[in-house]
Amino acid sequence: MLSLEVADAALLGLLGLLVGSFLNVVIHRLPKMMELRWASECAEFTRADAAPSLETPAEPFNLLVPRSRCPHCGHQIRWFENIPVISYTVLRGRCHGCAAPISLRYPAVELVCAALFAWCGWRWGLGWEALIWSGFAAALLTLTCIDWDTTLLPDDITLPLLWAGLCAAGLGWIHTPLTSSLWGAVAGYLSLWLVYWAFKLLTGKEGMGYGDFKLFAALGAWLGWQALIPVILMASVIGAVVGIAIKMLGSLREGGYVPFGPFLALAGLTAMMFGASSILAVIGL
Ligand SMILES: [Zn+2]
Repeated sequence: MLSLEVADAALLGLLGLLVGSFLNVVIHRLPKMMELRWASECAEFTRADAAPSLETPAEPFNLLVPRSRCPHCGHQIRWFENIPVISYTVLRGRCHGCAAPISLRYPAVELVCAALFAWCGWRWGLGWEALIWSGFAAALLTLTCIDWDTTLLPDDITLPLLWAGLCAAGLGWIHTPLTSSLWGAVAGYLSLWLVYWAFKLLTGKEGMGYGDFKLFAALGAWLGWQALIPVILMASVIGAVVGIAIKMLGSLREGGYVPFGPFLALAGLTAMMFGASSILAVIGL
C-alpha cells in the first residue's frame, strides 16, 4: 500500500524529470543567447559593420527553436530520443545518428531535478507550496550548471528568482514571513557587496561577481535573513575545500577561477530541505 507521501513524491518526481529535460536546454542555450545579445548590443553601440551576421542571425535561436540536434553530426533529436533518462539508457549514451557519446550531464540534471521535486512533494504534499519550492530548486540547479560552465549567473534567472521569493513570502505562499524575506534580500546583497569591495580594495582582485550578490539576495528572499549566515558558512567551507582540491589536482582552468554560485546554490538547497539551523547543528553551533 503506497502512502500518500510516496505517491506525492513520485508524481512530483515525474514532473521533475520533464522539467529537468527543459533545464538542460536552458543550461545549454541561455549562455549562447546572452552571448548573441551582447555581441549585437556591442555592434550597435560601436556601429561596427564587422559582425552583420550577429545582428541579424539567419535563424531564430531561443529556448524553443531550433529543435535540438546532435552537436557532432547534426542529427535532429526525435521525440522518442528525448525521453528523460530512458532514451539515454536505451541509446546507451550514444547519438542514434553517429554514435558519438552523449554527455552524462543530461540524464544527471534530469535525475537531480526529479530528486529535488520528489523531495518537495514528500515534504509539502501535492500542492502550491511544493510546486513553488520545486521552482526554487529548479532555478538553483540551472544556475549551478551555468555558473560552473561559464562563471556567469544570468540576471535572467537571479532577478526573477529574487522577486519570486519576495512575492511568495508577501502572498503567504511560503512560510517565510515577508519582513524576514525583505531583510534577507537586502542583507544578502549588501553583505557580499561589502565583502567584494573590501577584498578588491585590499588585494586589487575580484573575489566574486555581481551575480553572486544577486543570488545571495534571492536566497535571503526565499529563506529569510536568518538563513544567510548558515548558508554563507556552508558555501564558503565547501567552496574552499573544492577549490583547494581542484588546485591540487592541477585541473584549474584558465584564469584560475572557481565559481562561487554552485556552492551558494548547494547551501540554499540544503537550507530548503533541512532548515538553515541544521547547517549550524552540523558544525556544532
Ligand atoms: Zn550524432
